[in-house]
Amino acid sequence: MRMTKNRKIILEMIKESNKSLSAELLINKLSPKVMDPSTVYRSLDTLFNNNYLMKSTLNQTAYYHINKPDHKHYMQCLKCEKLIEVDCHLHKLEDLVHDNKDLTIISHNLTFFGYCKECGKKEKRLLSHKV
Ligand SMILES: [Zn+2]
Ligand SMILES: [Zn+2]
Repeated sequence: MRMTKNRKIILEMIKESNKSLSAELLINKLSPKVMDPSTVYRSLDTLFNNNYLMKSTLNQTAYYHINKPDHKHYMQCLKCEKLIEVDCHLHKLEDLVHDNKDLTIISHNLTFFGYCKECGKKEKRLLSHKV
């Protein structure tokens, strides 16, 4: 993949964000003079297909975050959309799938959804009020 100016801009924007970003969020941030929406969608696809980005889908919207070389997973908070890093413990599972089905696994993609510490506290308070 050639690192074009547009792809670089998108990659930098996602890198600088502590949230995962959807195409729509990126389009809203970018002036149409810099990049038209179809370029944003195409660049995201290319970056994802070349393993620069990881993707998680929430409410039928794709959110992208950086695919770090040390390979981490993320928990995305449903309330504040913050991303929290989670270590990967899935390589054993890859081996199992490989052995059982004789498949060649190249990578995997998993995002957890829930509440971060702060939002979790608020949620618990809300839940206990309901009881
Ligand atoms: Zn949160
Ligand atoms: Zn993993």
